[in-house]
Amino acid sequence: METIHLTGDTLNNFATEIRQTTGEDTSRCYQCGNCTAGCPYTEFFDYPVSQIMRMIQTGQREKALNSRAIWLCATCETCSTRCPCEIDVADVMDGLRNIAYREKRFTERDIRTFYEAFLTSLKHHGRIFELEIIARYNLKSGHLLTDADLGPKVMKQLHFLPKRIKGRDDVARIIKRFMEKK
Ligand code: SF4
Ligand code: SF4
Repeated sequence: METIHLTGDTLNNFATEIRQTTGEDTSRCYQCGNCTAGCPYTEFFDYPVSQIMRMIQTGQREKALNSRAIWLCATCETCSTRCPCEIDVADVMDGLRNIAYREKRFTERDIRTFYEAFLTSLKHHGRIFELEIIARYNLKSGHLLTDADLGPKVMKQLHFLPKRIKGRDDVARIIKRFMEKK
């Protein structure tokens, strides 16, 4: 593979956008592949995470933001801990997902539905309320009886009423700003 090393001064627009969004300098990535080698979900990705990093370096914005990988990433942070350049790769994936969400690029409809149920619960209570997330997700996704057999086990772990935190109005403002930001 050809070697392109972009310094901080020559970052393309997309790499600059990612740097501004996440604080991560993807130009330091030298394509060693350690992140991909440790990624437990790589077999389900359309592009391995190291290739996503390359897309950022080379300004392939459309390709990266339309990938399934950014939605299937579980934010497990294995990639971040393995990167010899100390790039927080998981944070870069999260940043890509946030940009894709704002631009309404949804390659994985169910994951978007879950993501929105999660954010809505956070906005309402200042913390997540699992039962509400499950209900919203199942209703909106149409998977009403998915994993119903797990219900009795899961129910023991769940709170039936949301626990609200102090400062939830501040959290709601943050989430609202995030969801509306273009
Ligand atoms: S954070 Fe995402 S990309 Fe990184 S190892 Fe985990 S699943 Fe793979
Ligand atoms: S581990 Fe770090 S340097 Fe290696 S390919 Fe992944 S992001 Fe690039």
